Amino acid sequence: MMKIDVLSLFPEMFSGVLGHSILKKAEEKNAVSYKVVNFREYADNKHKTVDDYPYGGGAGMVLKPQPIFDAITALTEQAGASKPRIILLCPQGERFSQRKAEELSKEEHLIFICGHYEGYDERIREHLVTDEISIGDYVLTGGELGAMVIIDSVVRLLPDVLGSEESHLHDSFSTGFLEHPHYTRPAEFRGLKVPDVLLSGDHKRIDEWRTKESLRRTYLRRSDLLDKIELSDEQKKMLAEIVKERE
Ligand code: SAM
Repeated sequence: MMKIDVLSLFPEMFSGVLGHSILKKAEEKNAVSYKVVNFREYADNKHKTVDDYPYGGGAGMVLKPQPIFDAITALTEQAGASKPRIILLCPQGERFSQRKAEELSKEEHLIFICGHYEGYDERIREHLVTDEISIGDYVLTGGELGAMVIIDSVVRLLPDVLGSEESHLHDSFSTGFLEHPHYTRPAEFRGLKVPDVLLSGDHKRIDEWRTKESLRRTYLRRSDLLDKIELSDEQKKMLAEIVKERE
């Protein structure tokens, strides 16, 4: 079972996300266990202060090293033998991706550190964490939303968490391509028709259509992804057709 611990100054923020949908089901299936800890509890000063003014002056407060170092020591000791990945949420970190979610889903124990204020004392970054992750090139108020994004994308990859009908194997990015379009009933809605091939019952043609539309979508929306993939001869042929169809 994967263990996920989160250090946050606002643990209540997690109850909605961890208590619903797939993340909740995953815990019920014993695929994962969550613990959200307020690291203020570990502050060793009388007022439980976790932040202080930056050396050298300037705006904003900085998270002190002591409460976070001590919280990590306690969580690591409780976990026993497993060596956790200690993930710092940080806009300056590695940009999060499906590849990173796949990598993290192989681990036994993840600990997330959610920052606030101006950021962290640099010694946390240099001497405590194994990964620094950003969820995108923008600045959030705190690391909580970022931790939730990463937890969601990792937990849905754990074995048996998604049923076969919800499988992640064809999801955008898992394959390297964006996923093909989907349609459901009715076959015609306000004069808008579902492509005939999807109603044909011919699974070979349907698979070919999906492969081509996935390729088209990737080419039109995220052609940068195609630079990272070795296309098969069949896919190269389809791509040439897609380019020609646009002329
Ligand atoms: N002063 C910092 C900087 O410029 O890099 C930004 C601090 S931000 C206001 C406070 C906290 O929010 C960060 O320490 C981090 O935990 C979280 N955070 C903000 N943007 C994030 C992002 N894009 N990805 C992950 N975490 C983020």
